[in-house]
Amino acid sequence: MTTWFISDLHLEPSRPAIIQQLFTFLQRINGKADALYILGDFFEFWIGDDFLDTPDGQAIAPLIQALRVVSNSGVPVYFMHGNRDFLLGERFATETGCILLPEQQVIDLYGVPTLLLHGDTLCTDDVDYQKARAVFRHPEWIAQALSQTIPQRIQQAQAMREASKESTQQKSGEIMDVNQQTVEQAMRDAQVTRLIHGHTHRPAIHYFRLDGIDAQRIVLGDWYTQGSYLKVDAHNGIELLDKV
Ligand code: MN
Repeated sequence: MTTWFISDLHLEPSRPAIIQQLFTFLQRINGKADALYILGDFFEFWIGDDFLDTPDGQAIAPLIQALRVVSNSGVPVYFMHGNRDFLLGERFATETGCILLPEQQVIDLYGVPTLLLHGDTLCTDDVDYQKARAVFRHPEWIAQALSQTIPQRIQQAQAMREASKESTQQKSGEIMDVNQQTVEQAMRDAQVTRLIHGHTHRPAIHYFRLDGIDAQRIVLGDWYTQGSYLKVDAHNGIELLDKV
């Protein structure tokens, strides 16, 4: 059997082809996988689970249902937050049958302890981003954000996306990639030699030595420019695919 990993789908209504691609993928793994891990930025943005009560939220009912079908088929679906959808909460989890994961999680992947992250915490060369992240992920900021009305939150999310677009255009590619020392420290702390993450949209399998031991870092790509799936099984090992 197989364990699947996806991330950075950046789903939004203006990208119906990606939603369709997801439906096809979910149908394919339905009842036929050991697990599905979604490693963040599943949605382009998420303003809180009460979004599900709005007309736009009700429009994603088929998506909620498709995840529900997979989790009901006996395939556990795990969801880790990204920097775009960190306001996603228990109600979404209950309605989809997804299991929310903490910010980092070590799993036993067919005998190999593997660290899972969204990946933004590894980009420590981007000091401004890390400062902003500390503010946004503070429980007080989250409580304050969720107390706003839905139109206010939509407006704020759009402003944040614009600001992020502007600042990423000004930064070099290197600054927005992971910092290798941060990667190594995270793996050391978690006592693993394998790391899987997304966020940077640079799909690759990196092989390196970590304190004298063979190690690997697998990076998932996004779905709106390339499509990216990681397939792991006990017999064939690891396959990073751009289509399934
Ligand atoms: Mn991200």
